[in-house]
Amino acid sequence: MNPFVYNGLPCRAIFGAGLLAQLPEEVERLGARRVLIVSTSQTSLNVQRVEELLGDRVAGIYGKATMHVPFAIAEEARDMARKLGADCCVTIGGGSTIGLGKAVALTSNLPIISVPTTYAGSEMTSIYGLTNAGMKTTGRDARVLPKTVIYDPVLTLTLPSALSAASGMNAIAHCAEALYAHDGNPIISMMAEEGIRALSTSLPIIVKNSACLEARSEALYGAWLAGIALGSTGMALHHKLCHVLGGSFNLPHAKTHSIVLPHAMRYNRDAAPAAMARIARALGVDDAPTGLYNLGAKLGLTLALKDIGMTKEGLEHAAKTACNSPYPNPRAVEFAATLALLSDAYEGRRPQD
Ligand code: NAD
Repeated sequence: MNPFVYNGLPCRAIFGAGLLAQLPEEVERLGARRVLIVSTSQTSLNVQRVEELLGDRVAGIYGKATMHVPFAIAEEARDMARKLGADCCVTIGGGSTIGLGKAVALTSNLPIISVPTTYAGSEMTSIYGLTNAGMKTTGRDARVLPKTVIYDPVLTLTLPSALSAASGMNAIAHCAEALYAHDGNPIISMMAEEGIRALSTSLPIIVKNSACLEARSEALYGAWLAGIALGSTGMALHHKLCHVLGGSFNLPHAKTHSIVLPHAMRYNRDAAPAAMARIARALGVDDAPTGLYNLGAKLGLTLALKDIGMTKEGLEHAAKTACNSPYPNPRAVEFAATLALLSDAYEGRRPQD
């Protein structure tokens, strides 16, 4: 057996339909009295439910979370937390909301209770990101890892089918890259394979019937596993490309992941045969890259970067940026091959067998 290091991240996860109701107990468990609720909206049904549940423990609501955590928004939320004397931050929403909660925790050390409503997985990681003057910086810090996460699939029933599918593919991408991570280990690989299985079987059902609670539960379970995989291993070329495309071209996060994933897998296929075999097994197919492409097509997802706002002229810049500071990757990251990968993703071509 190859040597490895397994470093489990300390986070309490509570899983079940209707278990948002346990939120007051979890706040009590942390000894908190003045909760700042963070969300993308101040008035959504989910925020109202949290407000009702917490009653007079709500110190305030910050409802302006935005993708990629703009610095000005982070500062405003931090100010609010300070002025209110908040002693806990409850985030209810997707990766953008959790990202803002993390920005608050980074400077205030407030404990986070996270209630995720998408499949992005940020709630299971100590990775934070902030964007200032068009530049996104990311880092890892134990202070931003939520203390408690409540996974209640009922809250995901309102996530539109198309967003559910793209967000689920984003989670599959975490699992896929964890399987060939330079710092991977057998525990995370088991979780990652199971995550791909859970997501790839539940997402097609959700796309047909977004109200299926059983499929929603299975997808959220997969997203939890994917979040652990993301938080515990170093991501590779696929995530690097998506960060570049999101940061420099402002492409939508989840859709960018779902389009690039089959092509990044094709790039790495022959350099990571064991990981590819596990991805294929989890998908129930023979070939991982084409299996992922077919899954995206079955889910009705956009398959081409040109259809989500990418410019053809930008491809070279993106390839160069990815090659200048690559993440560790099973196959050497070379300009011509990376540009070819991006051109395939731009056109939405099927990866070759
Ligand atoms: P998001 O949080 O931006 O949500 C997308 C949209 O869906 C928003 O308009 C939101 O209001 C809406 N939404 C969320 N849940 C909903 C629900 N249940 N019903 C109806 N609408 C709902 O998107 P995301 O893909 O979850 O997160 C993307 C962001 O998260 C990116 O900025 C990405 O960089 C970050 N991220 C960070 C990490 C990390 O570890 N730090 C991991 C994954 C993603």
